Amino acid sequence: MYAFNYQRAESVGSAAAALSADASAKVLSGGMTLLPSMKHRLIAPSALIDLARLPELIGVREEGPHWWVGAATRHQEVAAHAGLQQAIPGLADLAGLIGDPQVRARGTLGGSLANNDPSADYPAAALALRARILTERRDIAADDFFLGMFATALQPDEIITGVRFCTPVRCAYAKFKHPASGYAMAGVFVAQYPAAGAEHGGWRVAVTGVANGVFLWHEAAQALAQQSPTPPLLRDDAIDDVHAPAAYRCHLALQMLNQACQAL
Ligand SMILES: Cc1cc2nc3c(=O)[nH]c(=O)nc-3n(C[C@H](O)[C@H](O)[C@H](O)COP(=O)(O)OP(=O)(O)OC[C@H]3O[C@@H](n4cnc5c(N)ncnc54)[C@H](O)[C@@H]3O)c2cc1C
Repeated sequence: MYAFNYQRAESVGSAAAALSADASAKVLSGGMTLLPSMKHRLIAPSALIDLARLPELIGVREEGPHWWVGAATRHQEVAAHAGLQQAIPGLADLAGLIGDPQVRARGTLGGSLANNDPSADYPAAALALRARILTERRDIAADDFFLGMFATALQPDEIITGVRFCTPVRCAYAKFKHPASGYAMAGVFVAQYPAAGAEHGGWRVAVTGVANGVFLWHEAAQALAQQSPTPPLLRDDAIDDVHAPAAYRCHLALQMLNQACQAL
């Protein structure tokens, strides 16, 4: 690993100022992706600005029709939150399916969304649950946030402070895990909102692990609204790699959709 400076942030403001002052600095949250990337010499930031202990970035709370989850909230805290388990069970379940206990004890929501791995779980929840990604300077709809493999709408010096999820009528998540990492070979998040005036009768279906990035599966939402069979998933950008061919991932997505619907 290269030499680098380490700084524990005292506030989001001081972290933002440190990032703006040094184009090659990066924020550190759970370190579950950033530190292995540095060890493998894929990146070499000049400084790490540690957000992990900032109280303003940690926690889960109900805010009217939404639930706010702080960016530095660890997966295990989301999985274990009793209020969230009741209000948005699919989100708590999803957090409990990430990686293994060690990863869940360190990894955070903000780090996962900022990283936007095409097989990560939280991006599917954010899309299906009409989330708003809150940063120190703006509020970004999940629909506009995910821009493809490892790409997001974040500016290089922008910090996610939290995520506001819209409480659905009901929701569920199902994933077919890669047996080694736990990442999704296919993960499907299904959410239902009140139908009045909503697209696809209020149904939202988001898919991870199958294509170059998380996406909304509109045909599946439409089929749920019409109570008709879901057509097979067809994607030009389906991942085709040593772990699974593209057609198999698309097939798995349909199976995960069925599993999630059964769990509603
Ligand atoms: C063995 C293993 C198995 C895993 N399995 C899964 C899995 O099954 N499903 C899954 O979804 N994920 C999985 N992960 C990923 C893990 O869950 C973490 O969420 C992910 O690595 C990033 O979160 P982090 O908090 O560790 O972020 P870090 O590693 O600290 O940071 C990741 C990136 O995000 C940036 N960043 C961090 N916080 C912020 C912020 N608040 N604002 C802006 N940018 C920020 C950092 O600068 C860095 O570029 C796995 C990881 C490992 C190591």
